[in-house]
Amino acid sequence: MSAGPGDLPAHIRARGDLEAGDRKVSYPPAPHPLQVGVYDNHAHLEFADGDNPMDYTEHLDRAGSVGVMGVIQVGTDVETSRWSAALAHREPRVLAAVAIHPNEAPLLHQAGELDDALAVIDELAAMPRVVAVGETGLDFFRTPEELQGAQKDAFRAHIEIAKKHGIALQIHDRDAHDQVVEVLLEVGAPEKTVFHCFSGDAELAEVLSAEGWYASFAGTVTFKNSEGLREALKVMPRSQILVETDTPFLTPVPSRGKPNSPYMIPFTVRSMADTLKMDENLLAAQLTDNTIDVYGRFDDQPLGELGSVLRGR
Ligand SMILES: [Zn+2]
Repeated sequence: MSAGPGDLPAHIRARGDLEAGDRKVSYPPAPHPLQVGVYDNHAHLEFADGDNPMDYTEHLDRAGSVGVMGVIQVGTDVETSRWSAALAHREPRVLAAVAIHPNEAPLLHQAGELDDALAVIDELAAMPRVVAVGETGLDFFRTPEELQGAQKDAFRAHIEIAKKHGIALQIHDRDAHDQVVEVLLEVGAPEKTVFHCFSGDAELAEVLSAEGWYASFAGTVTFKNSEGLREALKVMPRSQILVETDTPFLTPVPSRGKPNSPYMIPFTVRSMADTLKMDENLLAAQLTDNTIDVYGRFDDQPLGELGSVLRGR
């Protein structure tokens, strides 16, 4: 762990541990600034990536210099969820989402540790500046069939936690569109339900549109082969679209493959504006309104001391 400002470590994950290759890559140049500010609706700032990793303060400062006003920092297990809540507690430009990732939940279930982990998520979800349960959902790409039942149960449990605390739900849906929709309709979706890194087509967009759910678009919408995603974007009501980086992943064109950071989001906003044949500033204003609709204002809830729950029991 490297030290960050204060007592919160700068990084608790390394992207190089997840992927083959040594990630000897540097951060790409910044786009020119947006005139109207936006928020990054989904990022993992706890990751060290590239040959000169940035800590969260550098990410946020650099984001601010191109008009990115704040970030929803997303946890994927107990440790990163605690870290996310702790960062949101001390940093006015950050709000947090907490959850056990759908690839992680079945493994904890097998180890008999899922219930304890969910109890921590429930505790964190009650804290100020924790504005969403996520990322949770279904991932049939990386989870074998025999564990998909446990994954579904964990998804249902996360939905209940979001509803109990009256906060948003951030869904990870990989190769599981129909089943995600099925579970949401079966148990009842939270009032604010977001498909993070929306990966569906126009047909799924119609479902989201009808149900009042949100589609959050990542750098993938800028990729050359993502015509289906752009068709989906055109179908979505403008009041139900969001934008995100999924930092450190999914870096938008023209820097695909490089480390990602919230400061790269103007590329995605401009690509979306192109697709929608919409003025960039009007789109940015709409995206910001939508972010506040889902998560509330970044200055609504006060900063605070780090409670014992953030340090672990
Ligand atoms: Zn993510």
